[in-house]
Amino acid sequence: MSARQATNAADTGTPSKKVDIPATVVVRDLADLLHTTAIEVIKELMKSGVMASINQSVDYDAAATVAEALGFEPHLQGQEEVAVEREQVEEDAAKLQPRPPVVTVMGHVDHGKTSILDAIRETNVTEQEAGGITQHIGAYQVDANGQKITFVDTPGHEAFTAMRARGATVTDIAILVVAADDGVMPQTLEAIDHAKAAAVPIIVAINKTDLPDANLDRVKQQLSEREVLIEEWGGDVIAVPVSAKTRAGLNDLLEHILLVAEISELKADPDRPAEGTIIESELDSSRGPMATIIVRTGTLRIGDVVIAGETWGRVKAMFDEKGERLQTAGPSTPAKIMGLSVVPRAGDTFVSVADERTAREAIEARERERTAAGQRAATLEAFSSDIAAGRVKELKIVLKADVQGSVEAVQQALEGLSSDRARARVIHSTTGKISESDIMLARASEGIVIGFNVRSEPGAARIADGEGVDIRQYDIIYKLTEDIERALKGIMEPIIEEVVDGHAEVRALFRVRGGRIAGCMVTDGLLQRNSQVRVKRDEEVVHTSRVSSLRRVKEDVREVQAGLECGVGVEGFSEFQEGDVIEAFHTETKD
Ligand code: GDP
Repeated sequence: MSARQATNAADTGTPSKKVDIPATVVVRDLADLLHTTAIEVIKELMKSGVMASINQSVDYDAAATVAEALGFEPHLQGQEEVAVEREQVEEDAAKLQPRPPVVTVMGHVDHGKTSILDAIRETNVTEQEAGGITQHIGAYQVDANGQKITFVDTPGHEAFTAMRARGATVTDIAILVVAADDGVMPQTLEAIDHAKAAAVPIIVAINKTDLPDANLDRVKQQLSEREVLIEEWGGDVIAVPVSAKTRAGLNDLLEHILLVAEISELKADPDRPAEGTIIESELDSSRGPMATIIVRTGTLRIGDVVIAGETWGRVKAMFDEKGERLQTAGPSTPAKIMGLSVVPRAGDTFVSVADERTAREAIEARERERTAAGQRAATLEAFSSDIAAGRVKELKIVLKADVQGSVEAVQQALEGLSSDRARARVIHSTTGKISESDIMLARASEGIVIGFNVRSEPGAARIADGEGVDIRQYDIIYKLTEDIERALKGIMEPIIEEVVDGHAEVRALFRVRGGRIAGCMVTDGLLQRNSQVRVKRDEEVVHTSRVSSLRRVKEDVREVQAGLECGVGVEGFSEFQEGDVIEAFHTETKD
């Protein structure tokens, strides 16, 4: 039993079956952790479609599946602090109180998103005090019939989805603005799919009804073709005719927002430590890093210690959209805060924690989590093994094709695909090049992007790379369906590549208890304690296993760099000869 397990068992005081597993673990070591044989582990891995030999490493997800199958409760090593952080998320149902809805405005360019946001703000921001000029802080709150509504002041589905891709769920209701004279346009459709992918309820604001060529029925008809069915037409989506110019219908819009909010039963506990999302941030030359937050639950107070993304700080001051100081900010309240040590990113979540020490530990834990997560790219092959392991039941696809005919044909082909394990679901499809917004939608929805006879816009491929989103490009339909079918069956083999880490030359031999140690010089790269290795003699591989011991001047070491001497033991091998070369390597799953 490892020291870690021993601690765990002692901590809980029960015959605990908790087990800490590193982000990657060699099969043999996993067997030790689970008090079983490597064969047993390999069998379990095979059940979930992962083929690995005794000396190969598997990632945490695969290891955790095995651990669960063997009756353990797996934890990612080094996640204790994060666990503490997460425990706070649990809400006490008895303390929940209604909270204001947070609304984002979306729609096609020039359909009047900004005008609507401005008109609502000018009309409804709580009494305009003398000199009470509102500032843009990224969000504002209005009073409607004595109730509050929070508006996110950066319209558009791009910002909405970019935040979601960071893990933030800010928006409760999406207002889809459609100009009555122009009707449903490409970005209207994109906004619909982005809101639907996030499962956020939509209210349609049909704008510019003051114009002579406004045609409400045409808009409703076009929407119904995209499965946005208006109430009067038997659907459940409310459509409100408005004019940002004359301000007609805006109160009606606010009332409907409150109605949808009531149906959604939005609640939070104002008495707990605050949690929420950074929606904007900047570096102010005199006040330092400033961030606009929206509190999701709890109440944020001056003096609270918060962690936000990769940074933390103590809240020194808070301001509302009129630049007035706030002492507290409760659920759904937007506030600009001062006191973070570094500028966080929009979409980062924040939590207030007990003290500075907890903040520092949590940041370190987040860092480790990110490093572990960073190794997992959302490739089709990765989805396939997730499907095989039963972790995913639906493969979400953003589809782009050259012409409408191919969009329809490919979508139809994809939606007909399913296996007994999973099915394909197209969450957004349209003609045109693969855009940044497509990548972010796939990222936020944990899906992939398929391009059929189309390329990516400049920049989109780079973002996909950075975000770990898989873009699959095809020009033959059956090749595409073949790949997806295999993925849905969970039988798509990951492409595994071998990477050579370094070489060491055997220069002397030592006999030790139970075998032989090779006295080596690392000639290039490096050798690590757990490296997989092959011993080569005259370019022929004579043995493949892994390093069993690595020493420098009688000390056990983790790694030895090129140019240094060391003593190397290789598992199951002691027939070294001078001049043998030990090659260290590891395998990587290709994106
Ligand atoms: P956005 O790109 O969706 O944010 O659209 P804007 O709010 O910038 O509006 C685009 C144009 O439409 C501007 O010239 C506005 O003055 C105009 N506009 C917005 N709302 C209305 C409206 O209700 N009636 C009329 N006639 N024009 C409007």
